[in-house]
Amino acid sequence: MTDTGAKHVVAIVGAATSGAEAASVLADRGCVVVVIEMNDRPYGKIEDGLPRWHKKQRGEEYEKIGQKLTKPGVHFLPRTKIGRDVEFLDLAKNWGLSAVLLANGAWRDRPLPVPEAEKYVGKGLVYQNSLVYWFNHYPEKGYSGVRYEIPPGTIVVGGGLASFDVVKICMIETVLRGLAARGHHVEMHDLERNGVPKTLQGLGLTLEQLGVVPCTLYYRRRAKDMPIAEIPRDATPEERAKRETVREKILGNLATKFGFKFQPLHAPLGLLVEGDRCVGLRFKRTEMKEGKLVDAPGPPVEVRGPLVVSSIGSIPEPIPQVDMKGELYAFGSEDTGEYLPVPGVFGLGNVITGKGNIRVSMDHGRQIAEHVARAYLGLDGEIPAGSLAPAAEARGQAAAAAVLAHVAKKPPLPAAQVERILARVRERQGKIGYGDYQGWIRKVTPPDLQ
Ligand SMILES: Cc1cc2nc3c(=O)[nH]c(=O)nc-3n(C[C@H](O)[C@H](O)[C@H](O)COP(=O)(O)OP(=O)(O)OC[C@H]3O[C@@H](n4cnc5c(N)ncnc54)[C@H](O)[C@@H]3O)c2cc1C
Repeated sequence: MTDTGAKHVVAIVGAATSGAEAASVLADRGCVVVVIEMNDRPYGKIEDGLPRWHKKQRGEEYEKIGQKLTKPGVHFLPRTKIGRDVEFLDLAKNWGLSAVLLANGAWRDRPLPVPEAEKYVGKGLVYQNSLVYWFNHYPEKGYSGVRYEIPPGTIVVGGGLASFDVVKICMIETVLRGLAARGHHVEMHDLERNGVPKTLQGLGLTLEQLGVVPCTLYYRRRAKDMPIAEIPRDATPEERAKRETVREKILGNLATKFGFKFQPLHAPLGLLVEGDRCVGLRFKRTEMKEGKLVDAPGPPVEVRGPLVVSSIGSIPEPIPQVDMKGELYAFGSEDTGEYLPVPGVFGLGNVITGKGNIRVSMDHGRQIAEHVARAYLGLDGEIPAGSLAPAAEARGQAAAAAVLAHVAKKPPLPAAQVERILARVRERQGKIGYGDYQGWIRKVTPPDLQ
């Protein structure tokens, strides 16, 4: 980097966990960073996914994101959606940026794989992301989004950690409503902390007396196959068995604490429809044979339920002009995050695979930002020791070396070009009424959350 005002300017799409982390890394390396966020608040899945009973953790993550977005050199541009307010190819090719990082997460629910599912969304069928968004936001005074009522006996299809949150939400909501109908006011946080049986016992009540039919989680495999408590590839049979027992225990404890039921080895086959509503699901029975999921003999099972919630994973929202490879964007490798159709565009966090958690998203954001800085922008400097998981580091170094071999390091942008880009950012900030980060956050945070 020269001292004549020439600088690298990187745009990051998505200001939450992975985007804010990448912004922080690049700003520390002297880059000018423009962080473009479609929402007013920059917290992504921390605010709209992680359920609101994680009150303390959500507050801490908000704080971390805020600190990263207010570092010198970081320019925050909220209420600006790529694909709507700014075209992707305009940003990637015409703005004259040094690089573009896509950190826009996975906001589309994987479609329920049964015929005509999309026709019944909102008519007896609901997807996880909109349900959790509602649960996290509906107590806010100004909430004007879609409203759901969770009826007793709801059917949830899933199997990952997020589906556990969905069944918890269903039980919490139905029990709170049942209690309110009998004149008992219980705080959601207390019910979540103490669980359903203990809370009801304290009031001398049972689920039956409340009229609450438990909801049921249907999974196509078994509890011990769930993608929780990850099993290392080189695990011994004993280690594997131990982890499988942990999985069964996690699910068992949760089902006991919240009173939901679990049905393994059921894969959705079709919707049960009456009039214009979905009124349940038809499942095929499955079994695990030599580690493989296969159809079990016997006829399908029909299960009626007043609401079906599909919680089978999230994938990135398509963005106009961004090429897809299956249900993901056309990224080359998870290690370098390269988006193959346009050189200089990289992906990080949930958007890469649709999967992940807070720590993985943050680590991946850091990993990709470090590699972009070193291998693509030619900003030398060591990756802080221990900042990456050893395996990711080893894979990342090898992949970064490959990028180095064929991508010319980009020179910093002349001062006038930096100024032209920042003028665009200031113009948009002015249009939406953005002044500074703290003032904006105060303005867009509902009064009851301040
Ligand atoms: C129900 C649920 C429970 C979870 N529980 C846990 C948990 O207990 N522990 C844990 O570690 N993790 C949990 N997670 C996962 C964790 O929240 C995510 O993995 C992580 O927060 C993702 O961070 P990210 O920055 O990659 O993506 P996101 O947080 O999704 O950030 C993407 C950002 O990009 C913005 N954006 C999207 N499209 C555009 C566009 N076109 N233009 C501009 N901006 C855009 C979004 O508004 C968003 O702010 C949970 C997730 C869910 C859904």
